[in-house]
Amino acid sequence: MEPIPVAGPWITQKEIDYVTDAVTNCWYGQANKYHDRFEQAFAEYIGAQHAVALPSCTSAIHLALEALDVGPGDEVIVPDVTWIASAAPINYVGAQPVFADIDRQTWCLSPESFADRINSRTKAVIVVDLYGNMPRMDEILEIARRHDIPVIEDAAEAFGSEYAGRKAGGFGHTGVFSFHGSKTMTTGEGGMLVTNRRDLYERVLILRDHGRVPGDVSFFNREVAFKYKMSSLQAALGLAQVERAEELVGRKRQIFNWYAEALRNLPGVSLNSEPAGTRNSYWMVTAVLDPALGLKKESLGAQLAARGVATRPFFHPLSSLPAYAHLSESTAARHRNHIAYEISPHGINLPCALSVTREQVEFVCQELRNIITAFAANRLQFAA
Ligand SMILES: *Cc1c(COP(=O)(O)O)cnc(C)c1O
Repeated sequence: MEPIPVAGPWITQKEIDYVTDAVTNCWYGQANKYHDRFEQAFAEYIGAQHAVALPSCTSAIHLALEALDVGPGDEVIVPDVTWIASAAPINYVGAQPVFADIDRQTWCLSPESFADRINSRTKAVIVVDLYGNMPRMDEILEIARRHDIPVIEDAAEAFGSEYAGRKAGGFGHTGVFSFHGSKTMTTGEGGMLVTNRRDLYERVLILRDHGRVPGDVSFFNREVAFKYKMSSLQAALGLAQVERAEELVGRKRQIFNWYAEALRNLPGVSLNSEPAGTRNSYWMVTAVLDPALGLKKESLGAQLAARGVATRPFFHPLSSLPAYAHLSESTAARHRNHIAYEISPHGINLPCALSVTREQVEFVCQELRNIITAFAANRLQFAA
């Protein structure tokens, strides 16, 4: 039997109809029909002026850094706990990542740690809306404004989340999204960059098309740049999904509420927070165990897997990864980022694919209860 899936999409006849139309009709003069509609609908949903559909969120972050002129000798601050795609593009442009600690409640960038990491080389900050939650954005934006540091908001995991009544992705100089198959809305693979800054928008349009200005038909490239475009089939799928945004986000929130109800009164386990003023879209239902329990994410994940339950470990701090082992920054961050290193070993993402049923969630919670109760009893016995 297939394990209960941790992530996955919700596809309806609407998506199938739009993609079928795209593959049938969107050629010749109709080639860009779905791009235009998708970008417009997306920008409207986020409340941003401009949106550019791209092949991935990774490419969106790469273009954002390029458009902000980040390069060799510059530093970019990024939270230590996130998917590596938030940080890898810093290397693409030849700059240095600087790993800031996370906040204990939101698991997102800590404003205090961000402020501590700023120096004269700081050229940008990448703020990540981790697992659908929002950071203490007012404080972060105020610090960034005071130091004149451009903000890239990585909202890949926060499609449909809100902070102070505004949609995630709309807070930085640019906001970026992922439509990977695991995300709340999907185009299979894909991404989006949104911005209110016309200059950045126009720069991104040139950078993503081999240095051509939009509409160029003379193949007269102004510079060596990149080729980052989405196909019309993906754009058609994306349009159908964004038209169902509230349905998708509503299901994510419902799945979270099933967990919250079923895990009530289970001591030592806390789930994602939703601070006042935030609407969390709960991309990943995440349980963090009290470190005092002594149960690590790897062991818990293996035990759940044996019971047919797929999980993912809470992201490891970037500064702990072999990928960044050569950086002295990693050594410093390992000693400095106490909250990242306290939470990450004890966190796990539970099945919250858009296909999971309430019965499946209740099964997962019962198994989780059994494992934790048995583990705690064992430890007590051992200690006695
Ligand atoms: C998924 C994800 C990305 C990368 O998205 P791709 O579309 O796979 O490039 C970037 N940042 C975060 C926080 C993500 O979760």
